[in-house]
Amino acid sequence: MAERVIPVADLRYRATLPVIPQTLTPPSGELLDRLKRPLHDLRISVTDRCNFRCGYCMPREVFDKHYSFLPQGSLLSFEEIARLAGLFVAHGVRKIRLTGGEPLLRRDLERLVAMLAALRTVEGNRLDLTLTTNGSLLAKKAQALKEAGLGRVTVSLDALDDAIFQRMNDADFPVESVLAGIDAAERAGLGPIKINMVVKRGTNDHEIVPMARHFRGRDVALRYIEYMDVGASNGWRMDEVLPSAEVIAQVGEVFDLERLAVSSVGETAERWGYAERGVAGEIGTISSVTKAFCHDCNRARLSTEGKLFLCLFASRGHDLGGLLRQGASDAELSAAVGSIWQGRDDRYSELRGQGDPAAGERRVEMHYIGG
Ligand code: SAM
Repeated sequence: MAERVIPVADLRYRATLPVIPQTLTPPSGELLDRLKRPLHDLRISVTDRCNFRCGYCMPREVFDKHYSFLPQGSLLSFEEIARLAGLFVAHGVRKIRLTGGEPLLRRDLERLVAMLAALRTVEGNRLDLTLTTNGSLLAKKAQALKEAGLGRVTVSLDALDDAIFQRMNDADFPVESVLAGIDAAERAGLGPIKINMVVKRGTNDHEIVPMARHFRGRDVALRYIEYMDVGASNGWRMDEVLPSAEVIAQVGEVFDLERLAVSSVGETAERWGYAERGVAGEIGTISSVTKAFCHDCNRARLSTEGKLFLCLFASRGHDLGGLLRQGASDAELSAAVGSIWQGRDDRYSELRGQGDPAAGERRVEMHYIGG
């Protein structure tokens, strides 16, 4: 088969050094952007490397042996990450998700988890501390992560059929090892566990019902995610997106579902439970393509080297890590975060549908800014 060549510009370094405001206003515990959206959720990418090569995220044709991942020295240290995280928490962040790349590839991640678990929200509560993983190393690490203070995990799993799963991860990784990781996380008490399944029409859509059947009856939330046009290298096409409405129709043909109420503001998923009495488990859909949820997006993303992105589809970031390494004080960094968030007006997914020209700009890769 001919090699598929997709030109990728290296957008990782497109970030401007934040301007430190003249007045260093201390954090008030609630930060609103220009559309009155609060900052509640911080996703931190701890590595840009992954041991999978899912075509929708890090296709092997692009992320091959010639691809240069970030040099070790440009990665934020755990101390730097924890310092920045503390400043975000003082601005009102309540939830931190570690991601990547594959976060469990970062050595001694438990040490960072312990540092983050020691932070307290402005109300004095523990953070909702979670991690998204492909599950490949979870069986080995679940117990240590729990002991370090991790609250729960989200595991990505796109199919139960081993041939389909291996074709999608393009790394010969068997489904049974991911299932063993999920079991280990459940035993360690890292629940309620979420499972992310990216649905691609014509690739794994016939796995929708088997996945529901497999996790039904367990305290697990299965999330069907619409295949998104993140990054610039996955060759995204609208005809490969299976709208969430079709997913729910398929599952609803087999199981009686009942709609669940929204459990928190800014929740990305629409959720359904099983109507049959006493049956545990839920399913949900994340419909970034067909039903944008920008209006209450309260998430910021910190890249592996400390660049702050305000939208998953952003094409440029704010170089907080650079400011930190230039010797900025906590008060200066905190004021910079405040003014960046207050200036935010991103709503890419809503504009995409309206044919906005900015939607055509090349976007940073998801493994870099964190999924
Ligand atoms: N390596 C970890 C994992 O596999 O979960 C964390 C990083 S990954 C980028 C985070 C999530 O983003 C995964 O659930 C993955 O399936 C999802 N994802 C990546 N590319 C996507 C795309 N184009 N559309 C929808 N979801 C995507």
